[in-house]
Amino acid sequence: MTTTPALAEFELSSGHTTAMHAIYKHLHAHPELSMQEHRTAAYIREKLDELGLETFACGGTGVVGILRNGDGPVVGYRADTDGLPIQEDTGLDYASTTRGTLPDGTEVPVMHGCGHDTHITVGLTAARLLAEGRQGWSGTAVFIFQPGEESAAGS
Ligand SMILES: [Zn+2]
Repeated sequence: MTTTPALAEFELSSGHTTAMHAIYKHLHAHPELSMQEHRTAAYIREKLDELGLETFACGGTGVVGILRNGDGPVVGYRADTDGLPIQEDTGLDYASTTRGTLPDGTEVPVMHGCGHDTHITVGLTAARLLAEGRQGWSGTAVFIFQPGEESAAGS
């Protein structure tokens, strides 16, 4: 398989990898319960705004980012954004110490125990690569960050 010059634009540099790890650790350390993803949504929107995407809120605490780049297919990437009511016991230096309140009023620990922190990180990194490498493709990329997957209230 040969790599075309255009495809080479999408390779991760060490700068991309460093930024990706920072995004992941931030998200992992700051999980929020279903339909309470206010800080997460603001963080996602800030990152998409930095990349020059059109953004709008959707589904309460959801965020959509659109990267328009000429004629071509419209392709979507979807990530979920909520954490779970779980006590993290990983010992990681970026482990969550966050607590939240369930709809019934119960206070609980919160953890990204289902990989949604990874899903968001991958989406934001893909958006960055496509925004920076826009000369290598054409079409429209839509990034959909859905809240409330664990409770089925949003996703
Ligand atoms: Zn999940």
